[in-house]
Amino acid sequence: MSTAADFQNYVLPTYGRFPIVPVKGSGAYLWDDAGKKYLDFCTGIAVCSIGHCHPALTAAITQQAAELLHVSNLYQIPQQAKLARSIVEDHVKIPGKIFFSNSGAEANDGMIKTARRFGHAQPQADGTPRFEVITFSQSFHGRTLGSMAATAQAKIQEGFSPLLPGFRYAPFNDVDTLHAALSPNTVALMLEPIQGEGGVNVATPEFLRAAAKLAQEHNLLLMFDEVQAGFGRCGHAMAWRALAPEIEPDCISWAKGMGGGFPIGCFWVSDRKINDSTTLSSVMGPGSHGSTYGGTPLACAASQAVLDVILKENLADHAVAMEKQIRLRFQEWQQHLFTSVKGMGLLLGLSIRPDAVTPAEGKTPAQTLVARFMEQGLLTVPAGPDVVRLLPPLNVTAAEIDEAFAKMNAAL
Ligand SMILES: *Cc1c(COP(=O)(O)O)cnc(C)c1O
Repeated sequence: MSTAADFQNYVLPTYGRFPIVPVKGSGAYLWDDAGKKYLDFCTGIAVCSIGHCHPALTAAITQQAAELLHVSNLYQIPQQAKLARSIVEDHVKIPGKIFFSNSGAEANDGMIKTARRFGHAQPQADGTPRFEVITFSQSFHGRTLGSMAATAQAKIQEGFSPLLPGFRYAPFNDVDTLHAALSPNTVALMLEPIQGEGGVNVATPEFLRAAAKLAQEHNLLLMFDEVQAGFGRCGHAMAWRALAPEIEPDCISWAKGMGGGFPIGCFWVSDRKINDSTTLSSVMGPGSHGSTYGGTPLACAASQAVLDVILKENLADHAVAMEKQIRLRFQEWQQHLFTSVKGMGLLLGLSIRPDAVTPAEGKTPAQTLVARFMEQGLLTVPAGPDVVRLLPPLNVTAAEIDEAFAKMNAAL
């Protein structure tokens, strides 16, 4: 039977899938089962950060797979310890501790659990635990019961009520309404410094600073979801540092690009003191959280290889240079469909001019254009209804960017 027929008969139809069947990848390119070649500016949605089948990642996976795939977190795992050290020392650069998960949603659930624990450790004046996490419009935090409830988008939550309680939503990038969102139950603010799925919306430095100030004044945790934007994607190891580098968050989550295609996620909790004798990271003590698969030797060896390449090849800086190339090509481009380039580094979105595209039946303007670019051999991703997202590998070349513009031009 064909792949499409097997999907129809045996796979839950939760995704609207494009009809192509990718079977092979190398660098910034993918090939489908008919041998057609695509320039991949989707990269598994910001996952294949060092391109497809990078030799360093392939070698790390094959070597580790031949040695030891999995042991329980009941034991010491050197690859996990080393990866945690390098994330804290080389990337976050603020003392803290890591918990490893298998995905972004799981990492966010862990951060939310950390906030709940903190709310028990430091309750309201009458001893009532604080539990409420404030998240923001157009956010995307994942699809589990916890991360879906955190996601302030009705379409993601449709038909799943009752949602996990304990979330309140406030307008993104609105400094004036931030304070009004607080209640006595509030324990944390959680946000994406650069929103990916919600349309490639960059937080303003003023908004981040206002959130950090509010968190400090009201003893709230400041939690950043960098699942999509982290580890070089936005032109900096840490997305928030590209915007307001002086801020010290309490928790950060990652996934997507840190595994380069191998499933892994994690969250970091600061070692800062929450009273004379207790650190924040210690609220997640023995027995408080777990994951059978989280941080296996194989997953950590793969992620280590990816992060090593990002660091050694200076791919965050390269992402900034390639962003410049994309913005330059966009400026020179004679077209009327897009109004601007949003985003930072290589987490970019092309904003579609209102009414410039006649959408295909049942599709958004962004889906319509993504399908048209695909026919020309360029893979991109919608971000909301009106933005086409460009997520090339971090080691994309200027020539590949020029090729992408040539393909987009041909499609228009
Ligand atoms: C993709 C994404 C998630 C969810 O990650 P999964 O690995 O799909 O669970 C969470 N937050 C952000 C910002 C994301 O982009």
